[in-house]
Amino acid sequence: MRALRIGLVVTAVVAAGCGLAPSTRPEVDSAPTGSSDDVVTKSLQDVERFWKATYPDVAGGQAFTTIQGGFHPYTERTPPPDCGGQPFEYQPNAFYCPDGDFIAWDAQQLIPQLQDNFGPLLVGVVMAHEYGHAVQARLGDTDQPTVVLEQQADCFAGAWLADVQAGRSTAFKKPDAGQVDNTVAGILMLRDQPGTPALAEGAHGNAFDRVRALQEGVEQGARKCAGYREGNLQVTEVPFSSREEAATGGDLPYDQAIELLAKDAQDYWARTFGSLPGGGEWQQLQVQGFAAGSPPDCQDPDESAEGAALYCPSGDFVAFDNSDLGPRLYQRIGDFAVGMLLGDLFARAAQDRRGASTSDRNGQLTVDCLAGSWTNDLLTRDDQENQGVRLSPGDLDEAVSALLAFGRAGDDKGLSAFDRIAAYRKGVLEGLGVCV
Ligand SMILES: [Zn+2]
Repeated sequence: MRALRIGLVVTAVVAAGCGLAPSTRPEVDSAPTGSSDDVVTKSLQDVERFWKATYPDVAGGQAFTTIQGGFHPYTERTPPPDCGGQPFEYQPNAFYCPDGDFIAWDAQQLIPQLQDNFGPLLVGVVMAHEYGHAVQARLGDTDQPTVVLEQQADCFAGAWLADVQAGRSTAFKKPDAGQVDNTVAGILMLRDQPGTPALAEGAHGNAFDRVRALQEGVEQGARKCAGYREGNLQVTEVPFSSREEAATGGDLPYDQAIELLAKDAQDYWARTFGSLPGGGEWQQLQVQGFAAGSPPDCQDPDESAEGAALYCPSGDFVAFDNSDLGPRLYQRIGDFAVGMLLGDLFARAAQDRRGASTSDRNGQLTVDCLAGSWTNDLLTRDDQENQGVRLSPGDLDEAVSALLAFGRAGDDKGLSAFDRIAAYRKGVLEGLGVCV
């Protein structure tokens, strides 16, 4: 199957970004200056530089042929070049056209909005993704399901991003952790709507899978991406199972979500804590809510979410802001965003109770992996033993969004949410055994 147009469709671009952090605007001084079209062109030239250097390595030594049809901004009134004879219909989009071997983007809305809301580096990543489709066309690997091609393009974009992070880009200076998190936040806005079947025409993959593909590209490079095939790519996207679930978006009411999730986390740790080094019998963990800004007394709080949630080792309880943070996570992201917060607190308690650190970098990443191991359990257990909590499409995305909202870069551990998502995903995909 060869799609005529392979593009990113933006389902929603919100003015304030998607996180809970007060500002999603990055520093812009480390990026190309000027109009967003300049940013796009400089990004594409840099991506081209990357592929000239990298392509022979993934194509058995063959030299790279750059895009022949050019780079084309378009607006409602100035359409892009004809692509395979399809009538032009204005959409906020960016796409590669295999027919004319060109890349086009909406210079009127999409790109300026992405740049304003998430920073220029996201524009670079979007263009690296589109250029990735041109690379697929050159490799001759396009006869795969759309979701595989989309994730491969994300992975190729990650391979380019690694070059930027290494300081080799001609378009961007080395980004800091916060800029990378802003970029990941932007990618979440470009995800498929929850409930899109993975093999649907135009499926890009959910945010969880897309961030994984991007991270694999960053960590393992373009050769890893080039090996993506239907048979070896783990895709977590699943359709909604019932009409009711589709109507509610798969979300439980807030209070019910908290209650069920806390009970489930309790049961999970009661079953598994004994298997961890330093673990043993799990004592019932007390979960408290508190009003914003008034955490309960604790001599030695192990804080999460910038103090809006905590485990108290001396009192052996967890507590979270149940008047602002909890409801905001729930309303802005979804019920499993609250699950991510509880998962983090239970994992923090487990790590503390077994005498391991949560305060250094590795300790924090272990907490994230342990939280992911509970998600893994929710995903893999039999329905019979399931006590009313079942993950719905979009829950994994909600977890990723929640980590971006309350686990962003900026704390003293120097970890980005991007790093934390990778640790969480490891627990989700591989389970408790890989975390410690
Ligand atoms: Zn694409």
